[in-house]
Amino acid sequence: MDGWKSVRVPRLPDLGIEPRLGGTQFPQAVGVYVCGITPYDATHLGHAHTYVTFDVLVRLLRASGRRVTHVQNVTDVDDPLLERAIALGVDWRYLAREGIDRLATDMEALRVLSPDHYVGVVESVPLIVDGVTRLLRREAAYRIGVPDQAGEGAADVYADTRAETAFAEALPDDAVELFGERGGDPARPGKRAPLDPLLWRAGRSGEPTWDGGPLGPGRPGWHIECAVIAEAFLGGAPTITGGGSDLAFPHHHMTASHLRALGHPHGGLALHVGLVGLDGEKMSKSRGNLVFVSRLLEDGADPAALRLALAAHHWSREWQWDRGQLRAAEHRLARWRAAALVPAPAGGGAPLAVRVARALAGDLDVPAALAEVDAWAGAVLAGAGGDDGAADAVDALLGIDLRAQELSRRRR
Ligand SMILES: [Zn+2]
Repeated sequence: MDGWKSVRVPRLPDLGIEPRLGGTQFPQAVGVYVCGITPYDATHLGHAHTYVTFDVLVRLLRASGRRVTHVQNVTDVDDPLLERAIALGVDWRYLAREGIDRLATDMEALRVLSPDHYVGVVESVPLIVDGVTRLLRREAAYRIGVPDQAGEGAADVYADTRAETAFAEALPDDAVELFGERGGDPARPGKRAPLDPLLWRAGRSGEPTWDGGPLGPGRPGWHIECAVIAEAFLGGAPTITGGGSDLAFPHHHMTASHLRALGHPHGGLALHVGLVGLDGEKMSKSRGNLVFVSRLLEDGADPAALRLALAAHHWSREWQWDRGQLRAAEHRLARWRAAALVPAPAGGGAPLAVRVARALAGDLDVPAALAEVDAWAGAVLAGAGGDDGAADAVDALLGIDLRAQELSRRRR
């Protein structure tokens, strides 16, 4: 499906940096796979923090000369979406369309670059059917017949995790419990092992179904979508896989296992973004305490300030949202924009682009990069020399446009 409109990224001079994550250097060609939304209850601040984080990573990798292919999926059919549509009394396709459109609007406002390939599950059903068929042929999957529910010969298909030798590595202690909480069905009768994930669900009445060819009519399980989309658009396992930290298990564990079973060893790098809380609680659908980007923008937040407020938090940590952070970011942005207006003859030391890129190059320390811009703005406003590439650096690497002197869209 189509992504959204990307802003133009200024070209920076050679920065001479080597980005690393957990001590590992990135290869010249990087496949970035970011798990997308299930399109309802989007875009909340947890989503936005994740996508801003990966946006900075993609910008940094490209500025360091890497060829980046950025893939993001959209889980536009899945149990939670169908359940929500029933609860609201709307068609699930309408709910999905609305969520996808809202994400696009929010990402454009936050200046998040559109992925190179933005891929929905519905449009990927043929890829999924092909992938599940290959897993069956490799004896890495098996059928559980459901004739009473879905008709004669109908069967659900599960991955056989015991057939995939690396599956048991790095399983969390509470794997079965987490699997049950996050979309899995550990107690399903007929499964060979509790953690075996669903690959294809035979069509039940009242549920959307697609032609599954040899699998029969049905719809995809969850994790297989990201495995086959990565395979189709990146040629195998991604160099780096990411999303919110609640996707590490089971989702990314299962996706990596499916990819290995399909013949693609995992690339190894993962970046999981800490969850965002509100008033001391985790922000979640079930608690009903989600803070939405669209709502903050409707209330007059400057999208650049909102992006800065998110970027102020290191991706590896969980954090709590409050409105004060938006005000602090507005203040910070105003200082940066004021500094960008000052004609700044070349000062001493490395240009801002190099300082920001160096801060980001070690484990993507975005708050440290913001501190470099603070130091530059402070020096320029105190009358010291700056550099005339500063605005381009902040735009290209951090996605903040300092030339837009619109301080706030707040309604008076
Ligand atoms: Zn995924």
